[in-house]
Amino acid sequence: MTNADVVIVGAGHAGAQCAIALRQHGFAGTITVIGREPEYPYERPPLSKEYFAREKTFDRLYIRPPTFWAEKEIRFKLGTEVTEVQAELHEVTLSDGTHVRYGTLVWAAGGDPRRLSCSGANLAGVHAVRTREDCDTLMAEIDAGTRKVVVIGGGYIGLEAAAVLSKLNLEVTLLEALSRVLARVAGEELSAFYEGEHRRHGVDLRTGVKVDCLVGEGRRVTGVKLADGEVVAAEAVIVGIGIIPAVGPLLDAGALGSNGVEVDEYCQTSLPDIYAIGDCAAFACDYAHGAVMRVESVQNANDMAICVAKTLCGDKKPYKAFPWFWSNQYDLKLQTAGINLGYDDTVVRGEVVKRTFSVVYLKDGKIVAIDCVNAVKDYVQGRKVIEAGIFPDTDPLGNMAISLRDILDCKD
Ligand SMILES: Cc1cc2nc3c(=O)[nH]c(=O)nc-3n(C[C@H](O)[C@H](O)[C@H](O)COP(=O)(O)OP(=O)(O)OC[C@H]3O[C@@H](n4cnc5c(N)ncnc54)[C@H](O)[C@@H]3O)c2cc1C
Repeated sequence: MTNADVVIVGAGHAGAQCAIALRQHGFAGTITVIGREPEYPYERPPLSKEYFAREKTFDRLYIRPPTFWAEKEIRFKLGTEVTEVQAELHEVTLSDGTHVRYGTLVWAAGGDPRRLSCSGANLAGVHAVRTREDCDTLMAEIDAGTRKVVVIGGGYIGLEAAAVLSKLNLEVTLLEALSRVLARVAGEELSAFYEGEHRRHGVDLRTGVKVDCLVGEGRRVTGVKLADGEVVAAEAVIVGIGIIPAVGPLLDAGALGSNGVEVDEYCQTSLPDIYAIGDCAAFACDYAHGAVMRVESVQNANDMAICVAKTLCGDKKPYKAFPWFWSNQYDLKLQTAGINLGYDDTVVRGEVVKRTFSVVYLKDGKIVAIDCVNAVKDYVQGRKVIEAGIFPDTDPLGNMAISLRDILDCKD
């Protein structure tokens, strides 16, 4: 049995940032981070961008150089996972059979890729893009001659992967079950724009298509059978249909939650001395009218981690960080600010055909979010407009001659 004042479960963005922030805010106790993956914490976003495109090597993905952790006296147990939490005993059990006792437990376990439930889902050549291992396996298949790839799921990860693959001159088909890509996260204008961009780059992008099953020869995938009977040939399949929050042991221990573990405004779960942060934590989000939700972004992982670290160092403040996100596809840099949940109106600023524009989301007349494509100025000013919580006239909002800062100033 080992013990630590703070045990962090998950060596991803949130877990790493929590350990870093604890030391930054003067925490002098012992810290142990337990991570299922064998690597020290690394950035996940490049897995579908620069790392996948081979523009960055893995050593450039580390959140901190591996030597940093020893210097800060942050201990790691890697390649092992927490399988059980005994909340009363303040103890966790690991998959290697050992136990670790904690003063405070910070659950930062992210999520596992949602798998297809149809037949063929476990054939060789079917990949998720969540970990370095996922990415390396897929890249090795491409190196070995894979040319035809089917991407299932038109969310950000699926679209980013499709963009990289098409730039590598592979034959890419992208299948989205809903009537448009990015349907859960963006407005119709943005979806239509990205659909057009992918088709222009040669991706066979299909919306409103249902996958019946995956077909294979031997143990290897050879195609994706659609509900209408068509079989789309595939030498590899990427499944990007979201994640399932990795909270099993916590819920088994009695923590409240279902789609993620529920946390209060200090990121504390319903169990004593147990916090949860990052992709796996469901919280009432101020920027989404108090809706209880999980936010899957680096910003949210980092800021929740800092919130908990400060609390543990005696500076207890509610979690209220401003949400932002980004996505890179081809030469398009999308930056998103705010949360557009429940929006009832959109205004487009700029020229979609020139590939530099923004979509402003309003709810009951108030600006709640903005998606900016190659439009950094709008993004920077849009953040301030959202934080100010203003109710603008929609005519000037669509006029690029009037900056968002002007709109903000008018309301002062
Ligand atoms: C391909 C890809 C591209 C992305 N692009 C962007 C982007 O452009 N912008 C953006 O803002 N966000 C992006 N994201 C989302 C972002 O990476 C996540 O929101 C962020 O990683 C969440 O951090 P986390 O620490 O909560 O989870 P993770 O980073 O997933 O870390 C959780 C860790 O916990 C481990 N774990 C799970 N269960 C256990 C257990 N029981 N015991 C021990 N360890 C466990 C997991 O193996 C994992 O290593 C992307 C994600 C992916 C996968």
